[in-house]
Amino acid sequence: MSECIFCRIVRGEIPCRKIYEDEDLLAFHDINPLAPVHFMVIPKRHVASLAETDASHAPVLGKLFSLLGELARGQGLADGFRTIVNTGRVGQQEVYHLHVHVVGGPDRLGPMLTRK
Ligand code: AMP
Ligand code: ZN
Repeated sequence: MSECIFCRIVRGEIPCRKIYEDEDLLAFHDINPLAPVHFMVIPKRHVASLAETDASHAPVLGKLFSLLGELARGQGLADGFRTIVNTGRVGQQEVYHLHVHVVGGPDRLGPMLTRK
């Protein structure tokens, strides 16, 4: 059995504040939110990151991205939101199970990145 924390959430071994679930995808609130609304959407089948995807992942990733607007609206993000996918060391990925962050709230978010 995978020790991956998000695989454990998928299996129900670790609780989450679930927003959405179907046979392929799970969406839940981030445990340490960085904005008034901060949730993530993951494929249930483990894939470590966007650096490991190939054509076999296209259907589930297409399904995931095409669902984001509806899920965001459901969380009150009618005026827009930001999606973030941290990948690998450079992307400062912490959990190596591919996840798409969705962040937003009533106010405009800060800059995407800050200039050095
Ligand atoms: P990153 O891999 O850098 O994109 O970020 C991983 C994200 O997972 C962080 O924002 C954490 O707050 C979040 N996280 C870690 N453990 C949990 C958990 N058990 N439930 C919900 N979110 C989590
Ligand atoms: Zn996993």
